[in-house]
Amino acid sequence: MSRPLCARCTAPALLVVRYPHTWRNSSGAPVDGLRESVLCGSCDADDPAAEGLLALLTEDGAPPARLVDLVGDWLTAVRHRTPDHTDLAAEEARWRAGDL
Ligand SMILES: [Zn+2]
Repeated sequence: MSRPLCARCTAPALLVVRYPHTWRNSSGAPVDGLRESVLCGSCDADDPAAEGLLALLTEDGAPPARLVDLVGDWLTAVRHRTPDHTDLAAEEARWRAGDL
């Protein structure tokens, strides 16, 4: 089975986590769904929230209990992040221009 790819750089992801996420639509009504966070060895190399988890996933023989704690710490940090609207607008412009 192939690993999912990082949407930022297309390298194989080290970890993909899906969790419940609620947001409000334009009418202000809550919408329940799922959110997905991807841990990438390249894109997240400089992210302090991912440091311990990246070290654990790229080393051999790490104790499994530590993995659970590190995933929890990482999710606590990334689950509240929102997309950068400037980056989204630039990506949309590239897509509309046929560059993507
Ligand atoms: Zn990546």
